[in-house]
Amino acid sequence: MPRKGILKGVRRIVVKIGTSLITEDGKISRRCIERLVGDIAALIDQKYQVVVVTSGAISAGSGALGKKRENLSLPEKQAMAAVGQSILMDEYRKCFRKHGREIGQILLTEDDVKHRRRFLNARHTFNALIEMGVVPVVNENDSVAVKEIRFGDNDTLSAHVANIVEAGLLIILSDVEGFYRDLADELPLEEIGVIDDDVRRRAGGAGSTHGTGGMATKIRAAEIIMKSGELMLIANGRKSGVRPAILRGEKLGTLFRGGNSHMQSRKRWIAFNMKSSGSITIDGGAVNAIVSSKKSLLASGVTGVTGKFNPGDAVDVLNENGDTVGKGISNYSAAELSLIKGKKTRDIRGLLGGTYYEEVINRDDMIIYDVP
Ligand code: GLU
Repeated sequence: MPRKGILKGVRRIVVKIGTSLITEDGKISRRCIERLVGDIAALIDQKYQVVVVTSGAISAGSGALGKKRENLSLPEKQAMAAVGQSILMDEYRKCFRKHGREIGQILLTEDDVKHRRRFLNARHTFNALIEMGVVPVVNENDSVAVKEIRFGDNDTLSAHVANIVEAGLLIILSDVEGFYRDLADELPLEEIGVIDDDVRRRAGGAGSTHGTGGMATKIRAAEIIMKSGELMLIANGRKSGVRPAILRGEKLGTLFRGGNSHMQSRKRWIAFNMKSSGSITIDGGAVNAIVSSKKSLLASGVTGVTGKFNPGDAVDVLNENGDTVGKGISNYSAAELSLIKGKKTRDIRGLLGGTYYEEVINRDDMIIYDVP
């Protein structure tokens, strides 16, 4: 299908801008930002809703204070991010204002997407900004984020932002043309439909010398986006700009395009934001029921329970070979489930008394993985 057709239904777009695109000689470049903002403003004028994720805070700070990034300690880098973030926003603000647009800064850490309330809160803020015609400009909250709660790179951050705002397309702009299958190839791959070990290996290895690297994090971002049933494009932001890619459906960059089914927002939350607290092993019949017949998981098919979890916690669902076939929210605690595993629904009431649920994991609370 031509690009134009594929991108036809897209309305909401996250555009991720890498540091290399907006710096010159280690300093933030107004000229570069102006050009990118011009493209983004044109997209918005075409009725697309755009969220910008931008890197460059640390470079902006160290550039302004004349410090060499590679010599900085972690607290110094965080300090540079504090200085640079406001410089960065000032530049974006000036550039967007030329197009009659205000911007709103949102700084996130991984913690913000791990807690449901904060995640939803962030979503409401994004939606309110977009409704007001304000362009949300996002970065990681580098100056306070510690290792444990960091995304660590803005590719991953942008995939999560795309999930928060339920964008149909994530465009990662950097100084690479796209994803190259082979170093010797002249052109990047036009489209990738599946991310397998081969793609991961090429992304992590020497294949990334076509640019400043960082292809591995882009592929991880693509995995999140593709599992959600949305689109991601890696393109050279220096050369092409985002406008032609979208509006004219030009074949530039590499398009990552998984299945066509959009994962419901609740399921995305389970897939990417909830941490599993344990696992449930199920027999072949139950695997069939949940994978092929798309049914809920009942206690009768459960053969094993590991970990300590409470009702409402996420658990991995394993087949008898130990492969993870899915993940979902358990209606039962690990202790309760150990008691009722393998039992028919009618016996459960006798065992647990009072209130009980028909299903261990409801269909709507469960995601199924493709098990090779
Ligand atoms: N958040 C970092 C910054 O603004 C950049 C991280 C990245 O480039 O992936 O400097």
